[in-house]
Amino acid sequence: MPTIFSQIVDGEIPARVVYEDETTFAFLDANPLAPGHTLVIPREEYERLNDVPDEVATDLYETIHRLVPAVEDAVDADASTVAFNNGEAAGQEVPHVHCHIVPRFDGDGGGPIHAVAGETPDLGEDELDGIAAEIESRA
Ligand code: 5GP
Repeated sequence: MPTIFSQIVDGEIPARVVYEDETTFAFLDANPLAPGHTLVIPREEYERLNDVPDEVATDLYETIHRLVPAVEDAVDADASTVAFNNGEAAGQEVPHVHCHIVPRFDGDGGGPIHAVAGETPDLGEDELDGIAAEIESRA
């Protein structure tokens, strides 16, 4: 069963499309957190960021890079929060990679990206060193 976003790409579900090219696609979120809230997706379905092939990841970033200023300018925003909910535990509801571009305005009452996690961990120097080494060895 294609995801709801694939159905949008295929024109089976209507959406306010703001950009499309060979590999990427962007449209307004149906439940905007702010005017101009835009979703940028790869045309093909990949559930998580780590499933996206390198070439498509490059295209996806190019489209995000192009749309962030377009979205901000269109709604006269002061800034934007640009983020992926990457996996269910992080709040991803649609299993088709999508980048949220949420326009932000001075005094809009929203929080920074730091507000998304739960309780912050109290990590010692050794633990931090260990975590950094684990990541470095996989990067
Ligand atoms: P997630 O929680 O997966 O990161 O975000 C999914 C987003 O998709 C939500 O912000 C939701 O409002 C948006 N969305 C869900 N269904 C539709 C739809 O049919 N059309 C559009 N334009 N956006 C949708």
